[in-house]
Amino acid sequence: MEKNNGRRVILFPLPLQGCINPMIQLAKILHSRGFSITVIHTRFNAPKPTSHPLFSFLEIKDGLSETETRTDDNTWLFTLLNRRCETPFRDCLTNLLGSSSDSETERISCLIHDSGWTFFTRSVAKSLKLPRLVLNTYTVSFFLNHFALPKLRREVSLLSQDSEQDDLVQDFPPLRKKDLLRILKEKREYLEPYLNMILETTKSSSGIIIMSCEELEQDSLCKARDAFKVPIFAIGPSYSNFPASSSSLFTQDETCIPWLDKQEDRSVIYVSFGSLISMTGPELTEIACGLRNSGQPFLLVVRVGLVKGTEWIEAIPEELMAKVNEKGKIVKWAPQQEVLKHQAIGGFLTHSGWNSTVESVREGVPMICLPCIWDQFVDARLVSDVWRVGLHLEHRIDRNEIESLIRSLFSGNEGEAIRERMRLLKEKVGRSVKENGSAYRSLESLIDHISSF
Ligand code: UDP
Repeated sequence: MEKNNGRRVILFPLPLQGCINPMIQLAKILHSRGFSITVIHTRFNAPKPTSHPLFSFLEIKDGLSETETRTDDNTWLFTLLNRRCETPFRDCLTNLLGSSSDSETERISCLIHDSGWTFFTRSVAKSLKLPRLVLNTYTVSFFLNHFALPKLRREVSLLSQDSEQDDLVQDFPPLRKKDLLRILKEKREYLEPYLNMILETTKSSSGIIIMSCEELEQDSLCKARDAFKVPIFAIGPSYSNFPASSSSLFTQDETCIPWLDKQEDRSVIYVSFGSLISMTGPELTEIACGLRNSGQPFLLVVRVGLVKGTEWIEAIPEELMAKVNEKGKIVKWAPQQEVLKHQAIGGFLTHSGWNSTVESVREGVPMICLPCIWDQFVDARLVSDVWRVGLHLEHRIDRNEIESLIRSLFSGNEGEAIRERMRLLKEKVGRSVKENGSAYRSLESLIDHISSF
């Protein structure tokens, strides 16, 4: 921990769990390097200030109604937030800069905002002469290429032949055409203008911060440096000394840790689908059944809201629940980073969100990928096809397939080879954040960059 350097950084996360976690992790890193931290946040999905007594928090009004916050259409939600937050954000930042200009001991260095906040962050920061950096919470491969989605959508009929489904998408590696078709099924009304705004806002920033590293995505980083023409700081995902778990928006069920303590080493499959996606009751039942039939002990997270229209796990039939309870434990939300670190965990059945993916790599836990939306298809391809540290559940959610993939991962030659590759990847990524590693050097450049403002 370095002593306070007299500079303050303003952070502005997008109000989603998968965006708040990396932003708070970044806050912890910058704070350890002597920066004071202020987090500006919306009322919707507000982080808990009491969990971070060393940071200042300022809430702005987002104007979202209860119904609006429950939408499934994230692009629409972000578009709405970008419209409604402009004035409150401008007022908040103007006040903050006004009060800090009176201070002789501290000055505000820059604003770091999530890439999902678009035009208004650019105009507000520009009018206040505040340097602005963008935090990208996706994999570089996805961030770099997803601006091409509207163009790819126009060409989609060219891709729809069955024989080509497994081909790589040339403009979007490592996606295969069948993945692209699934991404393109998502709602699109607001997508194109929103993507254009993200692109413009990112290109005009003073730099991009990415929670990834050369060891994971060298080619994409190289291309991104060419495409964006602003400094890119790939500061690495592997900060176990700065866990993001304290920024949880949900109440974590800590009882899973003593339960894991009772299980054999590397025997448990951890199952979680993050904070956003939803599934049907029959799909949850297939998963529960596949887990139970695999014979491995399992820890299953069923978030309230995972199965739409239900309270929690009542979609799982009673007779199956009795069997599930023999080998498994179900919780509403887990302390995921602690769970992945536990010696009892031998695999992770995941929706392949980027945070979950890098947390798993950091702890060396092999994955079974079940991507459902958006960037998750790219993350899953990186895991299964590029790094080859996991298996891919590509077809519909089916109990037999889940059982068979778990068996392959926990026993047999394929599972062993995957575990060995994961061990090597974990070491490589771990070295990257140590002194003179690529992520370490990127972080040093970022600190110099921010200090130069
Ligand atoms: N997470 C958690 N407990 C859970 C499930 C998820 O703490 O039971 C955390 C996880 O560690 C990760 C974040 O929630 O940091 C989910 O982010 P990710 O990008 O994986 O998925 P998203 O929620 O954005 O779909």
